[in-house]
Amino acid sequence: MTDPTELQQRLAAQGVHTVLAQFTDMHGVAKGKYVPLAKLGELLETGAGFAGPSIWGTGLPRTGPRAEYYARADAARIQPMPWMPGYARAVCSGFVDGQPFDACPRQVLQRATARLAERGWALKTGIEPEFFLLRRGDGGTLLPADDADRLDKPSYDLKSLPRQAAFLRELHEALERCGLDVLQLDHEDAHGQYEVNFAFDDALASADHLMLFKLAAHALAERHGMVFSMMPKPFANQPGSGLHFHVSLWDEDGQCVTAPASRDAGCLSTVGRQFLAGVLAHSPALCALAAPTVNSYKRLVVGESLSGTSWAPAYVAHGPNNRTATLRTLPGRFEWRLPDASANPYLATAGLIAAGLDGIDRQLDPGPDCQDDLFRLPPAAVQAAGHALLPQSLDEALDALEADPVICHALGDTLASEFLRLKRMEWIEFARHVSAWELQRYGAAF
Ligand code: GLU
Ligand code: MG
Repeated sequence: MTDPTELQQRLAAQGVHTVLAQFTDMHGVAKGKYVPLAKLGELLETGAGFAGPSIWGTGLPRTGPRAEYYARADAARIQPMPWMPGYARAVCSGFVDGQPFDACPRQVLQRATARLAERGWALKTGIEPEFFLLRRGDGGTLLPADDADRLDKPSYDLKSLPRQAAFLRELHEALERCGLDVLQLDHEDAHGQYEVNFAFDDALASADHLMLFKLAAHALAERHGMVFSMMPKPFANQPGSGLHFHVSLWDEDGQCVTAPASRDAGCLSTVGRQFLAGVLAHSPALCALAAPTVNSYKRLVVGESLSGTSWAPAYVAHGPNNRTATLRTLPGRFEWRLPDASANPYLATAGLIAAGLDGIDRQLDPGPDCQDDLFRLPPAAVQAAGHALLPQSLDEALDALEADPVICHALGDTLASEFLRLKRMEWIEFARHVSAWELQRYGAAF
């Protein structure tokens, strides 16, 4: 147990005067308030109070004891934010009426990891954020920040990368000073698109780290006059931003339980294959959590995108080092390529765990490896191989979520119904919107 007075003194010695009590809403957006360091004890014990119904997805009433949402700090996750001297970030979980709040996304993930812990397991994830650096053009439209970033095939572009080196270096330094082990920074396959990788960790820590990464990147990009964007597919003719998860299970002795007993036994152990099979089986419902926006489905398209290869999955399939499938298997782990950059990392991970555990409990078999290039395989051959198409719209994904009791149960009743209600509204709002494309196509056509 961390002693609050000692923690307060340690932070004061580091020049901290204010704590950002930060939690994550249903949409995966960081929210919070500033709390003077002197009030740290209360933040750890009770939490900072917020009007419950003002937070997306809580379903809390406007009056009575349940109207108040308390963001209670996790003592193990309080750290100065190097890009904001004097301020420390405290990762918080939601509490209502003195109890853990069932619809807080971080509590949802904590419940899921507790189910694993009952079996003596921990899930580790390495989350890989891809993102765009944009600027506002005429009329507020968003464009790549770097005008000169124009290669036909921009992956690993070393002409453009140095022009963002100052931003990337600041981000890198901020993350390292917060204890993240930064592995690589590169230019991705779209104009103005980059990726930053940091070392894998326990699932809850990785989700907390991703939120830290977003906080730092938004703040630092703004200082450089840019807009940091994790929109899944900002430009129709360019690849979108994925948020791939590298996934493995570990036991209490630090042994990887998804690793095969021998090298010739394939990539995964029996437990690993069952976990993988569960993720395959629940892929349609998982789409709602891993690709949760209208825009997400412009990334998960069949065939090649306008840019050539989009590297985003369209079919439910798995195969060794197969980047064209939803699940790419690697020795001892798999890469879940479904999530995009708009996913709430807590909810996506909780859904993943529920799906994987269901696969283990039902001893599901993932079927044969897919060795094909699914971006080239004709639709008839895909169908013959039995690879189902992922939902092709938010609407379809929400139908799949609603029909999947395993994933809904992992979210809990309140969050499942709030998620479905709010996301259905988002879909309807989009469907009723008349776009520039429609006007151009139909305006004078008939
Ligand atoms: N940007 C691609 C996606 O949307 C992934 C590219 C890669 O494999 O790094 O998933
Ligand atoms: Mg990438």
